[in-house]
Amino acid sequence: MAQSEVIPSFQQQWDRVLNRLRAEVGEAAYRSWLKPLSLLNGDGSFVRMAVPTRFMRDWVAGNYQDRIQVLWLEEIGVPAQVEIVVQQPARPAPKPALVDAPGLGGVKERPAAVFEVKSTPPVANVTIDSPQLPEVQRITAPLDPRFTFDNFVVGKPNELAYAAARRVADADAVPFNPLFLYGGVGLGKTHLMHAIAHQIRTAHPEKKVIYLSAEKFMYQFVRALRTKDTMSFKEQFRSVDVLMIDDVQFIGGREATQEEFFHTFNALVDQNRQVVISADKSPSDLEGVEERMKSRLGWGLVADIHPTTYELRLGILESKAEQLDVVIPQKVIEFLAHKITSNIRELEGALNRIVAHATLVGRSISLETTQEVLHDLLRSNDRRVTIEEIQKKVAEHFNIRVSDMHSSRRARAVARPRQIAMYLSKHLTSRSLPEIGRKFGGRDHTTVMHAVKKVEELKSGDIEFSEDIELLSRMLEN
Ligand code: ADP
Ligand code: MG
Repeated sequence: MAQSEVIPSFQQQWDRVLNRLRAEVGEAAYRSWLKPLSLLNGDGSFVRMAVPTRFMRDWVAGNYQDRIQVLWLEEIGVPAQVEIVVQQPARPAPKPALVDAPGLGGVKERPAAVFEVKSTPPVANVTIDSPQLPEVQRITAPLDPRFTFDNFVVGKPNELAYAAARRVADADAVPFNPLFLYGGVGLGKTHLMHAIAHQIRTAHPEKKVIYLSAEKFMYQFVRALRTKDTMSFKEQFRSVDVLMIDDVQFIGGREATQEEFFHTFNALVDQNRQVVISADKSPSDLEGVEERMKSRLGWGLVADIHPTTYELRLGILESKAEQLDVVIPQKVIEFLAHKITSNIRELEGALNRIVAHATLVGRSISLETTQEVLHDLLRSNDRRVTIEEIQKKVAEHFNIRVSDMHSSRRARAVARPRQIAMYLSKHLTSRSLPEIGRKFGGRDHTTVMHAVKKVEELKSGDIEFSEDIELLSRMLEN
């Protein structure tokens, strides 16, 4: 059933979202990053806004996009994909076209606030057979009993994915389809999918919930092909209430399976059955996957899980220590949260190792034993930003060419960014002044020293400049 809803004004809603964000992030961040955002267009399923520079786009996307998405969801009640594009501010713009939804073509003078709630009517000629439950049980993979919502620690990097997963698990009607979760390895995708399955199976034991890896899906399909039993394969999958497929990046490049997956997916979505997908990349970045499939996968809610933050790592360690029922000195917890930044699986592994060690040798956990036991892991997590990365980011920020970092041009527009990059290289890497000089077109170490002094001087006299440097450096460290 397609429903539509008239909402007073899109701009007003955005203003409300913006005000909430402003209260959350504070005046300084608001002025630097959020105020320059301008609403371009959108409908019930997407919102597009513009910022003037690429640097700002990266920053806003990296730091606020998920929160904006959550707030929009709360504001309009349906998930909206937030897209941030770079656009130089035009001269006094005519009233922006707020409705730019595909499928509205030909309708003139639509009020700016019409929201089309996407929902797919069931396709009449697809029959929904009652499946044999044992069949379903045979294809679903076992669930890890520890992967529940209760055991999932929520922080900024995963709040959108968590909120979306909860919504899917709690909703009576399919809230968005598919839910596409993506993020790097060990960040909680599988955990969230299992949590959805646990929750639905508990609340609705009659529902057929299937969870399996894309690899297993392929394997079963290939086997069905071999035994010429693809009909019952199709039936199995097309009669479920909730289908979750983990790590779909593995489907890329395998055409027959992809085709089958696509049909299964479409059949389920058309019948308004919930589909949840995970991958290590966003739909559009999936390699070896057909365009129509990429586009279809991005049709519902795409929620990414970002790399962990220090706060989230602390929270996770505290929660795991409690679960393991061991006392771990706060110093050790903080040390681990600082040092093991790769992913949550490694963080957990590190904790398990020191707990196992302490139990084995019968000694309590200390900072020294932790360093000793984890020395190999600690080394591999010791990644630092490089001078090249600094040059690239700074050049982007100031809209100059990376080659200007090495050139002998002295114009202020390039000389100042170059000095800033030198300053950041001094602070964020362990390189010596002569080494830094060499990376900047073979400059002398005294030039670098001068640059560092100059930037320090500017920082102390100009708050905005100082904030800018602070943000650049935070961005590079993450
Ligand atoms: P992915 O599927 O993204 O590779 P997993 O879901 O397998 O990652 O997570 C790796 C490990 O980290 C699991 O043991 C999981 O329980 C744990 N984990 C991930 N995210 C969280 C979280 N937010 N809170 C608690 N544990 C988490
Ligand atoms: Mg996984």
